[in-house]
Amino acid sequence: MQLVLLGPPGAGKGTVAARLAATFPLTHISTGDLLRAEVAAGTALGRKVAPYMKAGQLVPQDLLGEVVARKLATTTSFVLDGYPRTVEQAEFLASLPGVSLDAVVYLRVDREEVVRRLARRRVCPVCGATTAADETSPSTSCPACGAKLARREDDDAARVTKRFEVYLTETTPVVEFYRARGILKEVDGGGTREEVWRRVVDAVAAAR
Ligand code: AMP
Repeated sequence: MQLVLLGPPGAGKGTVAARLAATFPLTHISTGDLLRAEVAAGTALGRKVAPYMKAGQLVPQDLLGEVVARKLATTTSFVLDGYPRTVEQAEFLASLPGVSLDAVVYLRVDREEVVRRLARRRVCPVCGATTAADETSPSTSCPACGAKLARREDDDAARVTKRFEVYLTETTPVVEFYRARGILKEVDGGGTREEVWRRVVDAVAAAR
């Protein structure tokens, strides 16, 4: 099965993608995670993409396309999280050998909810788990592995605003791109993690 998850920052794409990957099973490909790993390792690519990520802007497709193509060449069953984010990227994805998407799940969440969620988001630098600040006790340690939780550098208010604007201008046309191709599954991304997960499972089951 080949899936794409679309939605604004904070929609829950990472959480849903990780659960889809474990359930079906599928390879979870998060371009944000791939790029953050490049930055952390200090690679040549990492040094090029870091300023874009820091500013909450999209990394140019000519830097990212090769990374995505290489990763997709290793698997036929995947869930893509955070890619494509532009129509150019959606066209590139469609042009890759072996890519034939079964469904594109669009998690719909409004701006107020995005701002609220990202202010509370904490990530675990060790296992990658994402949690909301007031769901943990004590709020500073990862419920999965116990490591000290951190905020993502680009989750501050100014960059969240920037990322949401970029999402509106660049990524909402991708929603229409897939709607026109008849594979878009629109899902209400509001409510608890469990409620969102049930809706996603129903949408994916209908696409199989
Ligand atoms: P994410 O973890 O998906 O929120 O991505 C974090 C950052 O990585 C984004 O704000 C962009 O700077 C960059 N990034 C991730 N995926 C893409 C993409 N498909 N196209 C361009 N930039 C991306």
